[in-house]
Amino acid sequence: MHDWWTMLPKERRKPAAADSAIRQGRKDLPWLGILPAQAAQAVLKTYYRAWVNCWEGRTAAPDFKGRIRSRVAIDIPQGRDLQIVRLNRRWGRMWVPKIGHILFRWTRYLPVGKHADRENRVTGARLVKEADGWHVVFRVQSQASEPAPHAGPAVGIDRGIARPLALSDGTFRDHGPWLSHGEAERLRRLVKTQERRRRARKPGEKNSRRLTRTYNQIAQLRATAKRRAVDWQHKTTTEIAETFSRIGMEDLAITNMVRSARGTKETPGRNVRQKAGLNRAIAAEAWGRTVKMLECKSADRGGGVVKVPAPNTSRRSSACGLTAPGNRETQVRFVCKNPGCGFEGNADTNAGRNIDHAAGQAVSGRGDFGATRSAKRQPPTRPHAA
Ligand SMILES: [Zn+2]
Repeated sequence: MHDWWTMLPKERRKPAAADSAIRQGRKDLPWLGILPAQAAQAVLKTYYRAWVNCWEGRTAAPDFKGRIRSRVAIDIPQGRDLQIVRLNRRWGRMWVPKIGHILFRWTRYLPVGKHADRENRVTGARLVKEADGWHVVFRVQSQASEPAPHAGPAVGIDRGIARPLALSDGTFRDHGPWLSHGEAERLRRLVKTQERRRRARKPGEKNSRRLTRTYNQIAQLRATAKRRAVDWQHKTTTEIAETFSRIGMEDLAITNMVRSARGTKETPGRNVRQKAGLNRAIAAEAWGRTVKMLECKSADRGGGVVKVPAPNTSRRSSACGLTAPGNRETQVRFVCKNPGCGFEGNADTNAGRNIDHAAGQAVSGRGDFGATRSAKRQPPTRPHAA
């Protein structure tokens, strides 16, 4: 289809001509004619969306799919075609046009059968092929009632150095490694095999079947690790959203710049000695996902996430408010240099308390934090002449 589009005369590839181009596409491309009308339209719409993103400067121009790293996804745009039936506690059955009935593992509540009505129903589905098999994602429309305000305490969460989540109440949320020792060892060996087979490949030659198999085995192990990480995140964020009302978190877009590298003498970087390899890759995307999960889950329970820019969270004393370069004793321990204060504690907990404080400052005067908003105000930090 990409071929067909790039062969169209230039004036027909403008946004204004898109509708007619899409109509033409259904005539010109036989395989689009075979697909059910809705599915064909979904394909064209997705493709056209990619061009709109390009025209509006968000992405590069669409290209052909990558040979190895592309996800296969099939969209079923209409919910009533699906005929979802719950067979037992663990299994459900659905109808996929052109394929037939398929079974799927029933993992969460779906408004079907006697639970479905005009407001609450499944409106579509998407089949996605991941490294570890096929998954189905349902689009659900539901009418949720406005939750009562959350009565729990406020909290600030820091993305710790030694531990994944440090809360301002002094507790931590930990997890073990995502792969067992044996699995990690196997991954290490597979990566070595992959490198060897890649080196053996001559320029211009196709991937050997063995190399492709190694790629798939690596992708499978990585998918397993990611699935375990997401599972832990879901459990942890649900528990946090149930316990706390106002959840202060760092605004990643702003602090990332400060944290990413080694930093300067005034603002030393904090993630310099992060865990290596796969764990680091997962941790990097995990923080954004943790924030998103907490935003949804907290809003459902009448709480809210307050995102604060917090460039000084690691150097500010949460007891007296003093920020000074010498404040931090080590990566783990925080010692306040203010003679009248002398506060000492876990460095990550101290950062969590600072984030909680900044979140409190951001919402005070506004009186609510129900809606998740980005607070652009700096935490109050008094310069101290010592
Ligand atoms: Zn202090």
